[in-house]
Amino acid sequence: MVSQQQASKLLERDDSEQIRVAFGGNPNAGKTSLFNALTGAHQHVGNYPGVTVEKRTGTFSIDEEDIELVDLPGTYSLRSFSPEERIAQDELLSGRHDVVVVVVDATALKRSLVLLAQVMQIGVRAVLCLNMSDEAERAGQQLDLDQMRALLGIPVVETVGHKGTGVDELKAAIVEALGRPGATHRVVLGERLDRAIASIVEHLEPGERLDARAWTATQLLTGHELVIAQLEQQEGSGAALEEAARQRALLEAETGLDVDLFVTERFFGFVDGLLKEVMLRKARADSRAASDRVDALLANRLIGLPIFAFVMYAVFWLTFTVGELPMGWIEAGFGWLGAWVNSLWPAGAESPLRSLIIDGLIGGVGGVIVFVPNILLLFFGLALLEDTGYMARAAFLMDRLMHRFGLHGKSFLPMMTGFGCSIPGIMATRTLENDRDRLTTMLVLPLMSCGARLPIWLLLVPAFFPAAWRAPALWLIYAVGIMLALLLALLLRRTILKGDEAPFVMELPPYRVPTFRGLVTKMLERGWLYLRKAGTIILALSILMWAATSYPKRDKHTIDEQAKAGTVQVLKIELPDKTDAAQRAKLEGAALAAARAKAPAGVEVITEGQADGRRASEDLRHSIAGRIGQVMVPVITPLGYDWKIGVGLVGALVAKEVFVAQMGIVYSIGEASEESPELRSVLRRDYSPLAGFSLMMFLLISAPCIATIALTRRESGSWKWAALQFGGLTVVAYLVALIVFQVGSLLGLG
Ligand code: GDP
Ligand code: MG
Repeated sequence: MVSQQQASKLLERDDSEQIRVAFGGNPNAGKTSLFNALTGAHQHVGNYPGVTVEKRTGTFSIDEEDIELVDLPGTYSLRSFSPEERIAQDELLSGRHDVVVVVVDATALKRSLVLLAQVMQIGVRAVLCLNMSDEAERAGQQLDLDQMRALLGIPVVETVGHKGTGVDELKAAIVEALGRPGATHRVVLGERLDRAIASIVEHLEPGERLDARAWTATQLLTGHELVIAQLEQQEGSGAALEEAARQRALLEAETGLDVDLFVTERFFGFVDGLLKEVMLRKARADSRAASDRVDALLANRLIGLPIFAFVMYAVFWLTFTVGELPMGWIEAGFGWLGAWVNSLWPAGAESPLRSLIIDGLIGGVGGVIVFVPNILLLFFGLALLEDTGYMARAAFLMDRLMHRFGLHGKSFLPMMTGFGCSIPGIMATRTLENDRDRLTTMLVLPLMSCGARLPIWLLLVPAFFPAAWRAPALWLIYAVGIMLALLLALLLRRTILKGDEAPFVMELPPYRVPTFRGLVTKMLERGWLYLRKAGTIILALSILMWAATSYPKRDKHTIDEQAKAGTVQVLKIELPDKTDAAQRAKLEGAALAAARAKAPAGVEVITEGQADGRRASEDLRHSIAGRIGQVMVPVITPLGYDWKIGVGLVGALVAKEVFVAQMGIVYSIGEASEESPELRSVLRRDYSPLAGFSLMMFLLISAPCIATIALTRRESGSWKWAALQFGGLTVVAYLVALIVFQVGSLLGLG
């Protein structure tokens, strides 16, 4: 074996220069799992395509030498066209990497090894990593690894990615590959094709970096547009281009086949021949039988979709019921914290700082953090569905439905990702090859109810629905989002994004038992994103919002003037310190009734607490936020909202969960001196269930957060599409909320 220092020498570089290794392979081969095992990073692994959409970089060390490792998105060949596959392709062809590890699924060798053959043809130092070797072994497959090494001329190792088995051997193989003086291997593509390639190579300038001429020649032969375009820019490349055209015509005449097809066949022929030589025992034919039997049920045309609907329902139900308990603890914790902070100041004293901490920070950030247990539960459920392979079935089932709406199952995958967050969802649209499909998917994707909206549902649903109706209501919200997304997609495909559908075959990975560690990692990763947002953007906005709701202050209050004029009488009620809430209410009620009986006609009697409440709500109305809300009143009244909700809607533009924080602040300031009732019961008191439902619809559909719009702008390449997304969704949201509230009121549901 060659040591790191020796390897550096062999590569004729100084020791300080970074050694680079890349992982390439088909989607789902286990690249990201191996990347994580090697670098100790926590990248997202997923059992469905489109999870790694950008390359990711990490480092690992051999003999204390740091080596850079790049994890690429999955690709089936070096000649494909989706933006995602292009990333992998460009990177593999760039020549930036000292070693390329081709990670293959050992249970699907025939399909996977074509990519290896292409990588080898580029002339880069390659390592073959047979991942999923546990499954291959279970299926009874046996390979002659030594024979494989000899035939391919590259190091070959077996690994189990998600368990990290074979990682040391992989490192050793990388070192071994580094020690080889350039590419020593050769891909045999048959005498006829090799001859054609050789005669084109003769006309090519010697490559500057790797000896990639054979690859270039093959691409010229099959007419790869990018390669031709690149070559046309080089001087003296005319001869090679001419020769390629000549060989192409010659081959087509001789074989009667399309050159493209001929070349593809030769690559598969190479893989076939190789497998014949090294396959000691084939996998049992029934090795996927169990998976297929389960699919007969879960991917069934008739009952598959109802089962999917039920599975999602079960996940939501768990989110609510199991989450309720820890949520109670966190709420109690914040209540205790608020009381403790309150006690640091003398009772009754004005203090902006106290107000900032209690109303702004605890009310705002606390209101968002309370939902962390529910969010972790939901993310755990989704991770479970993904890692077992069920999510890929869901996409398969949706495929037929999606076709009716001008989309296909491949669009459903980014949409599923959108349930977590629209941002990775929009990134995942890069797996779509057709630009129109991609744009349509991107534009309607925010209708998938994202994780940031979850706290809104967790706040509003229990406020307006009795316990038995909560899970169905949440399910309905998600379903409405999906249905609307499909309808809008259809509308787009019939109008501004008209065009043909791209044909597509969905690949179903076998069912796998997920590892607990994998699930927890994924859950914590997404949960952490949520918490980090609470600690940064929501914290900042809470402070801003607190200031906007607290200032400017009024120095005179109507209630004080009324008291002076004698139209209102404020009753001072002295109660012993230790009176509990129920007792206090009773005593106050009695005192109030007695005072009212004595008071002259036309004079209103209220308690000191009620007077404080009126002052606070007058202050709030007078504040900046209150004024913004009031400006919105004429527009939002037909939807059943008041100015307080208007304030919340403005905040929701920045990040959806800010709505919850806003409501917490608006109400904790407005109600400062009352019994600090729980937010949900205040909402129930102030709004009808119908207005509540209209509000949920508006928040579900209306313009997504600013980050999503910015990303849509970047990924679509134009502000036009981002503006359409923003404006279109806001208009639809308004219309739907309007219809819900107005029709509901007419039907007497209010
Ligand atoms: P990638 O698309 O190539 O990055 O693949 P991932 O790393 O995301 O893995 C896809 C799925 O295969 C995940 O559910 C992994 O847990 C699982 N997986 C990865 N490596 C192995 C392996 O060696 N054996 C088995 N049985 N499962 C694996
Ligand atoms: Mg990956």
